[in-house]
Amino acid sequence: MAVIPVSCGPDDPPPDRWLKGNLHTHSFWSDGDDFPESILSWYREAGYDFVALSDHNTLAEGERWIPVTEARLATLEKYVARFPGDWVEARAVNDTIEVRLKTFEEYSSLLNVPDSFLVIQAEEISDGFDGKPLHLNATNIVERITPQGGSSVTDVLQRNIDAVLAQAESLRVPILPHVNHPNFGWAVTPDDLVPLEGEHFFEVYNGHPAVHNEGDDGRPGTEAMWDYVNTQRLIAGGEVLYGLGVDDAHHYHEQRIGLANTGRAWIMVRARTLEPSPIIGALLLGDFYASSGVTLKDVRFDGSTLKVSIDAEEGVTYSTTFIGTRSPTNPGEVLGVVDGPEASYQMDGSELFVRATVISSKPMANPYRDGEVEMAWVQPMLPGSPR
Ligand SMILES: [Zn+2]
Ligand SMILES: [Zn+2]
Repeated sequence: MAVIPVSCGPDDPPPDRWLKGNLHTHSFWSDGDDFPESILSWYREAGYDFVALSDHNTLAEGERWIPVTEARLATLEKYVARFPGDWVEARAVNDTIEVRLKTFEEYSSLLNVPDSFLVIQAEEISDGFDGKPLHLNATNIVERITPQGGSSVTDVLQRNIDAVLAQAESLRVPILPHVNHPNFGWAVTPDDLVPLEGEHFFEVYNGHPAVHNEGDDGRPGTEAMWDYVNTQRLIAGGEVLYGLGVDDAHHYHEQRIGLANTGRAWIMVRARTLEPSPIIGALLLGDFYASSGVTLKDVRFDGSTLKVSIDAEEGVTYSTTFIGTRSPTNPGEVLGVVDGPEASYQMDGSELFVRATVISSKPMANPYRDGEVEMAWVQPMLPGSPR
């Protein structure tokens, strides 16, 4: 049983709270350009509650030393300044200085703050098919998974998903697979995503500059993809797909368009305790939203009416678009648009699902392309399934 705050009676559940997190970030353990502790300190100071470092095809384990090249000198200086004393371990090898990368056990022990900041172990399983990059995050992974390969885009993704779920099953630990950046390298089409089993999550917004969230003239953006996949899946009685916001940060020393920076997108998860299991449990229930800046006070769905309450900022305007599918030939049609901080939509029984996208008038501080404004994405709701 969960620990109950003293301010609540014994029968009252603890109050809901929104936990802010980023599930996709890289460090020196793969192709990120900073030390894990420095990256995590940024997120902690920026008010995040949880972060998963998800390096490519590796966990932060074992002994790993990296050379301090000319380009890394300033990064090392910042690292030493932030973590003084004997925390940083360096050695000279011939004419080169090397620094030991701290393991997940080490950096999470240093950075975790009970009930305030949590580091979650993750891996970006980075596979491919026919020259297409096929990446799958595994959040709360315990043992490294090597890319599984396969005979098609869907097969490669499914085999990696199956490997994640098999580990979760055998170790009895919740581990969450999610498909990364489908339009990176134009690798994953909506039809590739439809047949996946045991896969409920993809990135509706990824902050890396090469991922084409918006699609192009001939290829759908992630939101259109999302509605198509859910339409096909739900008609066939399949599993709903939820949309995540992530940074996919690689670059920590300069903030500008063209770099993969921190703070572009995140998720807000309604969970009572800051631990991997309740966070993953809430995600699986769809009790979260994705954001690139807009904060929501509340999201409620009673089985037919979806209500979105925005934590409005002074001088910023908001428009909420309700999107759903009523006919399989018209996936993701606009069902209604409501301006202002309170928005609701009542289903009439014809919708397969309804979701909402909130668009603000506020420019993103550091967008991944010109002209982006702060947004939020409310998850698809299915008729008769309150949340
Ligand atoms: Zn990737
Ligand atoms: Zn990545």
